[in-house]
Amino acid sequence: METQTKVKNSTGQLFVVATPIGNLEDMTFRAIKTLQKVAKIAAEDTRTSRVLLRHFKINTPMIACHEHNEKEVADTILELLNQGQDIALISDAGTPLINDPGFRLVQHISQAGVRIVPLPGACSPMVALCAAGLASDRFSYLGFFPRSGRAKTEALRFIEGQRHTLIFLESPKRIVKTLKTLEPLCINRDLCVARELTKLYEEFIRGSCETLLAHFAAHAPRGEMVLLIGPCNTPMVVDDAMIFRVAATPLMLALAPSAKAREVAKVLDVARARVYDVLMAKDGQGVDP
Ligand code: SAM
Repeated sequence: METQTKVKNSTGQLFVVATPIGNLEDMTFRAIKTLQKVAKIAAEDTRTSRVLLRHFKINTPMIACHEHNEKEVADTILELLNQGQDIALISDAGTPLINDPGFRLVQHISQAGVRIVPLPGACSPMVALCAAGLASDRFSYLGFFPRSGRAKTEALRFIEGQRHTLIFLESPKRIVKTLKTLEPLCINRDLCVARELTKLYEEFIRGSCETLLAHFAAHAPRGEMVLLIGPCNTPMVVDDAMIFRVAATPLMLALAPSAKAREVAKVLDVARARVYDVLMAKDGQGVDP
C-alpha cells in the first residue's frame, strides 16, 4: 500500500492556484484571498501575471518560476517554506503543471514533506470536455499533439485502439495538418475542436474529421484550441466502401499498393489480403481507389 509523506507542521504551505484561461470572472474568491495573503507568488511569467494581479488588487511580490529555472527556484522556495512562509504557484493561465511549469517544484516540495494545497479553477482540457458532447466517463489527456517523430507515431498508435475520449492541446497553425493525419484513424469517430474557451468568440466545432476539415477550409483556424477525439462506440461495418474511404485519405494516397493495403487493414482491423483484393478489383492496379 502507498504511504503518504508525513507533512511537517512548522513550515509554510505551497498553494497551487489555478487562474482564468480568458475570462477574468473565472478567478475564484479563494484564489484571490490566497494570492493576497501568501508571502510570495511564484509565477511562470511575472509580466503576464502582473496584469492579473493588478486587476484583483493583489500586491504580493512575485518570483519567476519557469521551465528554465524551475529546479533552482525549487530550492529557494523550499527554503522560504522552511522559514514558515506561505508561497503560491501560478502559471500564465489555467492550472499550473497542466502543460505549464510546476511539476518539478511540486515534486521537490512534496518529497521534502511540506504541505501542498491545490486551489482548483480553469483548466482548458477539462473545460473543453465539459461541453464537447463526447463521452466523459473515461478519457485520456495527452498534452500537445506531437508534431513529428517517434512521439507522433506513438500517439497515432495509441489513438487507434482507444475506446474512450482523447484530449489534446493544439495550435491553430497545425490543426488542419493534425486532422488530416487523424482522418484514417477517425473514420468512425466524433471529434470536437473547442476554441477560445471562456472568451467572447468561444466555439465548439463538432463532427467527423471530414466535417471539421470542411469547417476549417471555410473559416481559417484562429485562437487557442483543444482537440477532442471521441471513442469508437458503434461496431464498425467494414464494407468495400469503408475500405475505399480509408484508402482515399491523404496519408494513404501517398503509399504504394501493398503498403496501402497493410496500413488500411491495420486501421480497420481486417485481413490485409482482403483490403488488397478490394483495392485491386477497383482499378486493377490497387493505386488510387
Ligand atoms: N495550464 C493551461 C490550462 O490549464 O488550460 C494550459 C497551458 S498550455 C501552455 C496552453 C494551451 O492550452 C493553448 O495552446 C491551448 O491549446 C490551450 N488553451 C489555453 N487556454 C485556452 C482557451 N481559452 N481555449 C482553448 N484552449 C486553450
